[in-house]
Amino acid sequence: MKAAFLTGIRQMEIRETAPPEITDPHNVLLRVGVVGVCGSDVHYYTTGRIGSLVCEYPEWTGHECAGTVVAVGDQVKRLKVGQRVAVDPLIPCGHCDQCLSGREHTCRNQAFLACPGQATGALAEYLVMPERSCYAIPDTMTMVQAAVIEPLSIGLYAQRLAQMQPGAKIAILGSGPIGLCVLLASRAACDCTVYATDLLDERLAVAQRYGATWTGNPKETDVVRAIRELEPLGVDFVFECAGQQETLDQSVELLKPGGTVLMIGIPEVDRVSFSIHILRRKEIRLQNVRRQNQCMASAIELVSNGAINLDQLVTHHFSLAETKRAFDLVADYRDGVVKAIVHVAA
Ligand SMILES: [Zn+2]
Ligand SMILES: [Zn+2]
Repeated sequence: MKAAFLTGIRQMEIRETAPPEITDPHNVLLRVGVVGVCGSDVHYYTTGRIGSLVCEYPEWTGHECAGTVVAVGDQVKRLKVGQRVAVDPLIPCGHCDQCLSGREHTCRNQAFLACPGQATGALAEYLVMPERSCYAIPDTMTMVQAAVIEPLSIGLYAQRLAQMQPGAKIAILGSGPIGLCVLLASRAACDCTVYATDLLDERLAVAQRYGATWTGNPKETDVVRAIRELEPLGVDFVFECAGQQETLDQSVELLKPGGTVLMIGIPEVDRVSFSIHILRRKEIRLQNVRRQNQCMASAIELVSNGAINLDQLVTHHFSLAETKRAFDLVADYRDGVVKAIVHVAA
């Protein structure tokens, strides 16, 4: 089969490799249909690592995917050949303390698609996954929508962690795909006032179409000052989706006393800092967000019942052979890109 491999910093090749086989009776074999390009894939592409996870070339890539079941293991119960599924890229062990307490996303023995040393990647013609990681999608859902279910589930999970009440005032710092998914999830969950920022005006335009109350570009506006003018008491929640020291500092400035910052962005550096006296005096809560937990099914439901419309999120389409172009586009934030999609199956 054909698969995309990272072969160095900003290097990628489509290579021929042996297709995977079902070795565990709980697994299914998928024909990969569509893969979304994620910021974390691009992180590995441009820097060769995320924290302690370092690429070993050639390295698999891609994890946000949807496909069609083409074979099932003997113990597979729900899924049948021909069914279309959205994939949760996480392969949990199922028996550690985290898995047993409903925290599969922090499983101590987890493998995640295309994480170095853990699992193969989704940017390949075929993929083997445990049945439990595959979610059947309704006939009305497109493969492209299904490939965006995983990032949407992260937005949904972050929104649920916040436990926001109707009337909440929130700021989303970084309106890329994840920030926009937080916006979609928040809008669908309750009446709230949303302040959204980003360095790209095209993304702010999407945020506005998705119901942001106010948007601002830090290149042109002192966003902290502007939001504080509109919300002199501060906001209840900040969703930090950029992974930058600057946005972490803005988060603390924007929050009201007792507010929460949800840290979703992945910093390129190993350490970040906070002004401890502001954190302390305001009694700010820091909530890290590790991907998502048990939000895939809800995400599918919210899209299929029309509560959430993903169409504005997907801006660019590529074939498997064009995967490098897709990664370069996302890495360089060119052409107003929000979510780039690779169509693996023609
Ligand atoms: Zn992702
Ligand atoms: Zn586990």
